[in-house]
Amino acid sequence: MNQLRTQVGIVGGGPAGMMLAHLLHRAGIESIVVEARSRDYVQERVRAGVLEQGTCDLMHAAGVGARLEREGITHQGIELRFGGQRHRIDLSGLTGGKTITIYPQREVVKDLIDARIAVGGAIFFEAEEVSIRGFDGDAPTIQFRDSGGVQEIRCDFIAGCDGFHGVCRPSIPAGALTIFERTYPFAWLGILAEVAPSSDELIYCHHERGFALHSMRSPSLTRLYLQCDPNDSVAAWSDERIWEELHTRFAVAGGWKLNEGPIVQKGVTPMRSFVAEPMRYGHVFIAGDAAHIVPPTGAKGLNLALADVRVLAAALAKYYAGGSRDLLDSYSQTCLKRVWKVQRFSWWMTSLLHRFPADNPFDRRRQVAELDYITSSRAAAQSLAENYVGLPMEGPQRFP
Ligand SMILES: Cc1cc2nc3c(=O)[nH]c(=O)nc-3n(C[C@H](O)[C@H](O)[C@H](O)COP(=O)(O)OP(=O)(O)OC[C@H]3O[C@@H](n4cnc5c(N)ncnc54)[C@H](O)[C@@H]3O)c2cc1C
Repeated sequence: MNQLRTQVGIVGGGPAGMMLAHLLHRAGIESIVVEARSRDYVQERVRAGVLEQGTCDLMHAAGVGARLEREGITHQGIELRFGGQRHRIDLSGLTGGKTITIYPQREVVKDLIDARIAVGGAIFFEAEEVSIRGFDGDAPTIQFRDSGGVQEIRCDFIAGCDGFHGVCRPSIPAGALTIFERTYPFAWLGILAEVAPSSDELIYCHHERGFALHSMRSPSLTRLYLQCDPNDSVAAWSDERIWEELHTRFAVAGGWKLNEGPIVQKGVTPMRSFVAEPMRYGHVFIAGDAAHIVPPTGAKGLNLALADVRVLAAALAKYYAGGSRDLLDSYSQTCLKRVWKVQRFSWWMTSLLHRFPADNPFDRRRQVAELDYITSSRAAAQSLAENYVGLPMEGPQRFP
């Protein structure tokens, strides 16, 4: 067995793990990242694409914002579409100038991996049989197998950034975590189409046939979603059926043109709200999707993952600077305060915009009344806007 030693062992090389490694490096703390997939796979995975103002600020402050600055598309508003009418929410005007930025998750991950490799930081891709041990005492280890054989990393702390299906959360003894969970009776069919977006801003559409979302990844790539049955397979959705359904749901009085183009990716994403508390057990700290999942309606998953690791990096920096464990001890509590507010917002957006199977006419009327209220009351619109651009990040103001 090959033995390695570092200060922080990071399981998972997604956005949370890579940002944590980067922030720790900037604070002079060593880490090793262990990732189950190949570099190409993690850099090409199609997932989130909306960055909050605070996420962009973090990328810039951490010195990985150059490409985001050049290629990110800044949006100052979103559209709510219901009853065949269009209504703009002026995010920027309602939040004192804050914005959101369209920049795909895979680009965030690419930038972070490039930054890691540029400084010679250790990262193992295609790690198999990853396990964590000894984290309830003072000798945590990460073990895995790769082309070089069996590797063991001895470290002071383990960061479980390995997503919802990773090994870190399930390795914590049963009974030590409390799980809060809600599943939704629908899913999203997401497509990526090689065509210019049909709108300059995101469109959240409430329709009697179900929710639809128009988003984008670049000036030539459109991302579109349709609420669908959670048991639907991609095979049930031919390209023709998808475009027909999108045209129906997005139709507005006075007309609106939805650009069609070749569909290059399709997937069905289940909808779930999930929180594991606390986000720490002994010397293992869980962050991002490993600790919580939000339904994607509020575009929060990636943003929340980065907010967690900012808190964790600051706590580790304080510990290594002077031995104080106070921020490590309050890590879970600090993160969960924000996690629950974001859970609430994501649940609320989901409940507002989707058709529920057991809907009755009362519920549909109530949803439309709420949409009408949001689009006619500055106070209601402002509440949506301040959550959508992102609540302030918890933790020290001056980090990194
Ligand atoms: C299909 C899909 C679509 C999504 N779409 C959106 C969206 O449109 N908007 C939005 O805001 N959010 C979306 N999300 C959520 C968002 O992408 C996540 O919240 C975000 O990726 C969380 O980052 P993370 O680093 O915590 O976890 P992940 O991105 O899941 O990264 C975890 C990493 O750990 C690795 N890993 C897993 N197990 C192991 C192991 N045993 N050992 C080592 N490594 C391991 C994984 O390969 C992965 O690279 C989507 C998620 C999915 C799954």
